[in-house]
Parts: sequence; structure tokens; C-alpha cells
Amino acid sequence: MIEIRLYNTLANRLEPLDPVHPGEVRIYTCGPTVYASAHIGNFRTFVFQDILRRFLRSQGYRVIQVMNVTDVDDRIIHSAAAAGIGIREYTEKYIQAFLEDIDALRIETPEEVVRATDHIEDMVALIERLQQKGLTYTSDGSIYFRISKFPGYGKLSKIDLTGIQPGARVDVDQYDKENVRDFALWKAPKPGEQFWETRIGPGRPGWHIECSAMSMKYLGDTLDIHTGGVDLAFPHHENEIAQSEAATGKPFVRMWLHAEHLIIEGQKMSKSLGNFYTLRDLFAKGHKPSAIRFLLLSVPYRRQLNFTEEGLSQARHSVERLRNFVARLKAEQFPPGSNPEVRKLMETAEKDFDLGLANDLNTAVALAAVFDLVRDMNTTMDGGTFLQQDAPRAIAAMEKFDEVLALLTDQDTETLAKLGFAPDRPRLLAQEIEALVEERNAAKKNRDFRRADEIRQKLADSGILLEDTKDGTVRWKYK
Ligand SMILES: [Zn+2]
Repeated sequence: MIEIRLYNTLANRLEPLDPVHPGEVRIYTCGPTVYASAHIGNFRTFVFQDILRRFLRSQGYRVIQVMNVTDVDDRIIHSAAAAGIGIREYTEKYIQAFLEDIDALRIETPEEVVRATDHIEDMVALIERLQQKGLTYTSDGSIYFRISKFPGYGKLSKIDLTGIQPGARVDVDQYDKENVRDFALWKAPKPGEQFWETRIGPGRPGWHIECSAMSMKYLGDTLDIHTGGVDLAFPHHENEIAQSEAATGKPFVRMWLHAEHLIIEGQKMSKSLGNFYTLRDLFAKGHKPSAIRFLLLSVPYRRQLNFTEEGLSQARHSVERLRNFVARLKAEQFPPGSNPEVRKLMETAEKDFDLGLANDLNTAVALAAVFDLVRDMNTTMDGGTFLQQDAPRAIAAMEKFDEVLALLTDQDTETLAKLGFAPDRPRLLAQEIEALVEERNAAKKNRDFRRADEIRQKLADSGILLEDTKDGTVRWKYK
């Protein structure tokens, strides 16, 4: 087995992978908050995690990965209340869309995908442990973690704690990164909000406690790897460490891996700049899932990725190059025999591929090994020195690379069709669907049933199903 070295944010350096249970790697991944569709920046992080798990498996490790789904927070509670439905119902379609999205990008579904609202009891039990140790205080029905009682606070993000007033706190989910404050473990309900009646009082969990409770429930007190976007290191991951280690007295995570941001055409992605893309926005613009996957994985995860139209078009060509090469290997007749020089090229490429990934998942090095090999083998084929028995060996090499890359099988058309983006269908974005649903509601109110039916049909033609509920609201989903 080759030594795998990964950059541990906690230690600030490359470290050899050293799992708690030999041969098995337990990974926790912060998943989506399901109040809207995930954006392309989120998928950069999810593709990186997919490369990690696929590479570990290709090296003989068993992988157990747990991903949470945050299906309770301020935005969800407010949006669900505004829609007049419960939060489970409100989040369901976003969870379904997220699972379809990761599938479209050939991101393997983690072994466990777990919802926060299914684990309220685990969170309550963890908060009780912290209460028993005197690490919390209650104010206006909310329970806070007192960070001055946890000496290790700040060790992940290296945040400077000088000048922080003990007892200063915030009680919102969206933190200002400059503020280091006591954080809420449990939030008292505000009027009209959905809440849980529990042993520690009525309310709902804070965001951080969710990840501590669920990761330790499924993976044990000490995890091998915890991943997330770099923006989660503080305060989210810092708070996870504080809660978990204060409760168990053991190290919470051996290795913290953080993926850098993605920018779009050289600019920060933001709704106000109009460059905020969900995966389906890109599909609607005609981009293929495999090209998006290629672009997202082509830049090593700790480097900022500039996501551009030109990059997508190059990515599409790169994927085609790989697929065409395998097609050539399968179709062409070569002279009998095998060429030891060609074999050597393959062995070198396989070694360089693995060594590249073993060095902090350097996908740029791994891809260079693959494309150099494709170029050299094409040259030997053109020169007539590529021989019959080299072909199955070369196919096996390409398939081995593809266990990690997942680009060779052409599922693009099928995937797009499944999501309602078949070329013969009009393509609709989520905002357009919402607007049509609203227009249909208005038409029904005005007893214009013809128009209402027309809109239902238009949506059905685009692969969108409508469901009229008993309470008069309308839900939609992708067929
Ligand atoms: Zn998390």
C-alpha cells in the first residue's frame, strides 16, 4: 500500500493517513442545508469528497462516509411557515433534488445520509452531557456553550481569542466570521415557529450540535476524516470540536480537510452579480454533467477553482478524448503480439496516477499521467507499434483510472433526460417553475380554469409534476 498524505487543517501540514480502525476510513461530510438548491460551489466540495472516497477504496480501504442534511434552521423554518407547510414537507423536494444532483455528477451517495430532524434525541442527549459538565448556561430558554470553559477553542481555525468578552454570544445561524462568541446549542422557540418538546425544554437545535451528535453516533467518538468547504472551518467546525471533545474528553477528528472556494469567470459567485449557478442552471444552458464533473475535479481541492465557460468547453473535449481513446482501443485491429515499451508506459502512468492522488489528492498530477498516456499510446497506434495484446491491458488501465474519475461511461443524455433536460423538451429553471405555479394559483382563484390547465400541461411537458394538497397549496417536483 502506498502512503497517503493529506493536508490536515488542524496540524497545518501534510500528514500520513492513519485510520483508527486499520483498513477502514470513517469520514464525516457536512452536507447541504435544504432550503434551496445547492450551487456549483457546493458541488466542488462534494466532488472533492467523492474523489477522496473513491481513491481510498481503490487503494483497498473500506470507506464509511456519513453526510448530514440540515433540514432545520432559521431560513427553513421561515420559508416553511410562509408556505404554510411543515419543515419536513418543505425540505423534502430539496433533498430529493440534491440526491438527483449528486447522482448526475456521479458522486457516490455516502453510506449514511442523515437528516437533522431524525436525530433531535441524540442532540438533546449530547447537550445534557455538556450541561452535566457545567459547560453551558441558559438564557431566555436558549442553551449556550461557554467557550471560555474549553481551552482548545480556536485550535482548528487559529482564531485569535484575545479581547473576547467571556459570555458574549450570538444566537443566529448565520455567523459573522469576525465574531468569536458563545454559540447556541439549543434555541428557544419564537412565536409561530415549529419546535420540539424535549427534556431540556421546548425549542430546536443549533446548527453545530447537529454535526457533533450525528457524526459521533454513526462513526464513534473519534473520526478519521472530517471534510467541508473552507468557509465551514470557523465557526462551524471549531464549534463541533468544542462540543464533541468537551463531552467525550477524546480527540474528535484526526484529520480535517477543507476545500477551497470556487469563483466564476474570475469573480466571486453571488446572486447580485447574476453568476450564481445551480447545477440545473448549467444543464439548462446545455452543459453536460460529465464536463462539469471534469472541471470540478481537475483543480486540486486546496486551490481556488476558476469556473469558466471556456473551462467547461475544454472539459467537454477532455472527456471526449478519454472516451474516444477507449472506443479506439475496442474497435481497432492491431498487429499480433505485445510491446514491452507500451506496457512500460502504462505501468508508469498507473504509478504516477496513484502517487499524484496519494499526495493530498493532487488531481492535476493524476490527470496529467492519464492524458500523457493517452497521447503516447495514440502515437504508438499511429506508428503501428501498438500491438493486439496491449489493447486489453490498456482498457484495464483506463478502467482503473475511472474507478476514481468516473468519466468514461457516457450517461449524459440519459441523466439530463431524467431531470427533464432532454433536447426535445423546453427547459425550465426553478424560478420559472415557481412563477408558473404562482400564475396557475392566480388563474384558479379567478376561475380561469383553462389557463390553469394550460400551465399544468406546460409544466408536465417539461417534466414537472404538480400536486394540489388538501390545504390548497401546490407542491412541484421533477418527474
Ligand atoms: Zn457540519
